[in-house]
Amino acid sequence: MDKCIFCEIASHNIPADIISENDEVMAFADINPATKGHILVIPKTHSTNLFDIEETLLSKVICLAKRIAKIMPEVLGCSGVNLFHSAGKIAWQEVMHFHLHIVPRYSRDELRRPFVSTSTNKDELKEIAFSLAKRLSQNNINH
Ligand code: 5GP
Ligand code: ZN
Repeated sequence: MDKCIFCEIASHNIPADIISENDEVMAFADINPATKGHILVIPKTHSTNLFDIEETLLSKVICLAKRIAKIMPEVLGCSGVNLFHSAGKIAWQEVMHFHLHIVPRYSRDELRRPFVSTSTNKDELKEIAFSLAKRLSQNNINH
């Protein structure tokens, strides 16, 4: 099997423009930035995506993302950020090592929302919310 590129970056075996790291998490510049200052935050140990990352580690990834996002307006001159994560190939995930994108947003950037709202009827919304809530409460009992 091919080596995981982000495991290699986490181990310093291949270079990246690292902006922060500790024993557990790392942040570095995306090689193909969507906007100026696009950063990726990863756990150093391999998880594939949101489906398998351990929750404490996930919270460390998110906290680092928050600290980076907070300084972006001052350092980069952006006016906001998007955080995004793709879980699964169907959701456009290309690198199969968990990563959170921090994409700084500028008043005249070219980014557009990739989706439009679908029309869903109110009964269906209720049904979906009910099914998810029911399953979630079963999980919480077993947690
Ligand atoms: P995904 O589509 O999986 O959510 O995003 C993968 C991201 O990783 C892309 O934005 C891509 O530009 C970035 N990327 C892929 N390979 C490398 C690399 O070797 N180094 C860095 N710094 N970024 C990478
Ligand atoms: Zn990996």
